[in-house]
Amino acid sequence: NLSQRLLKVANYIPQGARLADIGSDHAYLPAYLLLNDAISFAVAGEVVPGPYENACHEVKKQNLNDKITVRLADGLAAIHPEDQIDTIAICGMGGTLITEILNANPEKLNNHPLLVLQPNVGEKNVRQWIVDHGYRILNEEILEEDHHIYEIIVAEYAPQTAEKLSLADLTFGPYLRKNKGEIFIKKWQSEQAKIQTVLKQLEQAKNMPVAKKEALLTQYQEIEGMLND
Ligand code: SAM
Repeated sequence: NLSQRLLKVANYIPQGARLADIGSDHAYLPAYLLLNDAISFAVAGEVVPGPYENACHEVKKQNLNDKITVRLADGLAAIHPEDQIDTIAICGMGGTLITEILNANPEKLNNHPLLVLQPNVGEKNVRQWIVDHGYRILNEEILEEDHHIYEIIVAEYAPQTAEKLSLADLTFGPYLRKNKGEIFIKKWQSEQAKIQTVLKQLEQAKNMPVAKKEALLTQYQEIEGMLND
């Protein structure tokens, strides 16, 4: 009963991984992976007591107490050296929050774990973090579930081959914008529609804010250019 979204995320967690799932809520992701013998150990981190209790409950219910350690902690503080974590998942939150979590405890990334990130919005911030920290995007995926469109970004530490992403790569995703799948096109066409709605509203305003209008037009044209590329 795992969501399509988390099922896709699960596909990117390497076999046998020692996973930290940060912001785990019900610990569904690590529980699913352990029940399927896909990983060897997990930490489920939660900063909010309610979700932390959800995670504890699920781990107990599935009899996974020896394989999942649930910790009430802020972000990467849930990871302890003895956990020997090699993969970190941070899913179901905004891209800005994901980068704040990654920036708050940089020492937890000293062993350069694989990062499986699933921002709900603000993907550009996540990609910027990746290129700024010697990581490289290995894979990207976009999916739609329950009328929401989600992106998954997988990154590995590769300072020698760290890529320089163009503005278009950062905004739209280097792989996603090349592949231009159906859901990807839908996402950006709907962004264009939103921009058009705002532009129409601005045109009706008495003192039209010119700078704002121009910024929106630029954004619209960036999307148009990318879609026609
Ligand atoms: N990762 C799950 C998923 O993708 O379905 C749950 C996503 S839920 C929308 C986001 C969770 O992140 C919430 O349970 C919230 O308490 C937790 N969270 C937010 N900020 C956090 C932080 N700094 N450290 C740990 N957990 C955090």
